[in-house]
Amino acid sequence: LDPTGENFSPEEYEVERALRPLSFDDFAGQDQVLENLQIFVKAANLRGEALDHTLFHGPPGLGKTTLAHILANELNAGIKVTSGPVLDKPGDLAGLLTNLEDRDVLFIDEIHRLSPVIEEYLYSAMEDFKIDIMIETGPNARTVQIDLNQFTLVGATTRSGLLTAPMRARFGISSRLQYYSTELLSDIIQRSAEILKMPITLEAAIEIAGRSRGTPRIANALLRRIRDFAQIKGNGKIDIEISKFGLKALNVDVNGLDEMDNKILVTIIDKFKGGPVGITTLATAVSESAETIEEVYEPFLIQQGFIIRTPRGREVTEAAYKHLGKTRPHSQGG
Ligand code: ATP
Repeated sequence: LDPTGENFSPEEYEVERALRPLSFDDFAGQDQVLENLQIFVKAANLRGEALDHTLFHGPPGLGKTTLAHILANELNAGIKVTSGPVLDKPGDLAGLLTNLEDRDVLFIDEIHRLSPVIEEYLYSAMEDFKIDIMIETGPNARTVQIDLNQFTLVGATTRSGLLTAPMRARFGISSRLQYYSTELLSDIIQRSAEILKMPITLEAAIEIAGRSRGTPRIANALLRRIRDFAQIKGNGKIDIEISKFGLKALNVDVNGLDEMDNKILVTIIDKFKGGPVGITTLATAVSESAETIEEVYEPFLIQQGFIIRTPRGREVTEAAYKHLGKTRPHSQGG
C-alpha cells in the first residue's frame, strides 16, 4: 500500500501503466484543474504554440505524472521524462533539451530536488528557449548559445514549499491536485477493473474506494490485491464479501489511514494530550520531517476531519479519538 509507488515491483509498475488514463476524457476528478487545462491546451493547439510551462503539486499518487502524459497526448506532442535527482549533469540536461521537438513536453518529477546548477540552466531554457553550453576546456573553453525548439516544461512536486522562488515564477500554469472523494475513487476502481477484465460489484468498488486514502494509486493497488483474493479464495468475481475479507487480511484501516497517519494521531493524543502541538515538536516525536508531515500526511488528516490547525498548533478532533477507540479526557470541556 505504497502511495508513492517507489517500492513497486516491475510487474506492478506495468499494471499501473496499463491503468493510466490517456486523455482528458479518461481522467476522473480534479474538475477545476482539468477544466482550465483543457482551455489552455485548446488555445495552444489553435495557435500552434507550445503550452505554457506547467507545475503540478500535491501529495503522491494523485495523478501528476498521469496529467503530464495526458498533456502531451492532447497537444499531439512527444514527451521526455526525467526527475530532479536523476538530472544532475548539465550535459544530460542539454542532451534532453536539444532533442525536444517543437511543442514537446519535458516532464521533470520531483522538480524541487534539482541541483542549483541545473536550475540555473533551466531558467534560460524555459524563458528564451536557449541554452549556453560550454565547449572545449582549458584556454580554448568558450560557451556557445544553442536555440531550442519551443517546449513545455511540466514539473511535479509533492513539496511545493521547497521550490525556489525563481523556479516557481517561471511556471505560467500551476495546479494543486486534491484528494479524491470515495465516489470518484469508486469510478476509477470500476474503470480499472474493466481494463483488468475483472467483474466487480458497485458495493465492492465503494468499499475499496473508502479505504484508499483519497488516492487513485492506492485504490488501484488495493483492487489488484483484492483481485488475487477473489481468484484464489473467492468465485473469481469481486463482491462485497471477498472485498471485506481481503481488506481485513491486508490489515487495511477502515478509514484508509496508513501507518504514519495513525502514528501522528496516536502521538498527538498520547504525548500531547490531544494537542495543540507545534509542527516541529510533532515531527520530532514521530521521526518524520516537518515538511513531509505538512505536505503528505496532514492534508489528508485535515480533509478527513481528524486534525485541525489552530494558531497554537495541531489538534486532534473527536473523530480521531473515535477512530482509535480512545476516550477524550473531559477536563478540556471540548
Ligand atoms: P507521484 O507524485 O508519486 O509520482 P503522481 O501524482 O504522479 O504520483 P500518478 O503516477 O499520475 O501519480 O498516478 C498513480 C496511478 O493512479 C496511475 O497509474 C493512474 O492509473 C492512477 N490515477 C491517477 N489519477 C487518476 C485519475 N484521475 N483517474 C484514473 N486513474 C488515475
